Amino acid sequence: MKPVGFLDVDGPLNPWRAKPEKRPAGYTTHRMKPPSLYARYPGKPRAYVKPLRVWLNPDHGPALLDLDVDLVWGTTWMAEARDFIAPVLGLPDLPYVDFGPDLLNDRADGLHWKVPALLAYAGERPFVWVDDEVSDRDRAYVAAHHPAPALLHWVDPRLGLRDDDFAAIAAFAAHCGASAA
Ligand SMILES: [Mg+2]
Repeated sequence: MKPVGFLDVDGPLNPWRAKPEKRPAGYTTHRMKPPSLYARYPGKPRAYVKPLRVWLNPDHGPALLDLDVDLVWGTTWMAEARDFIAPVLGLPDLPYVDFGPDLLNDRADGLHWKVPALLAYAGERPFVWVDDEVSDRDRAYVAAHHPAPALLHWVDPRLGLRDDDFAAIAAFAAHCGASAA
């Protein structure tokens, strides 16, 4: 069965931890003001809100679309990923996970706050989760609670997605495709 491919933005697509003067090769710089940014600065005139600096690699769009997964945004950008990130990468309108009140709500048990919503979205389907905040705690939890294969694939936020990441995701998708539907 074709896996769901949950895609984080900051880390895998935007290597935000690279040094400011060391933008990785292949990336372009974008200054973005998604509407949710203004909510972080209540009362501040919009013109004075500093835009987010986002690095994106236009090669990532075609490479993601080549993967045999059903791409879904799994990011704090939520619906804004469709308006701000997808056009730069040449991605179509993809569905997104709505984290609701779980958004950025750190849990006392150490599980990443995204995990319950990702599991609910995936249902019985296999999935790959591409993120720079995946932990062994999350892996153990998903192994114990998800009925289908799952790959929690960590991406270095200093580097963003690279060829070996795409290869690992493709190998997992092939494995899912080869197993019984
Ligand atoms: Mg991230």
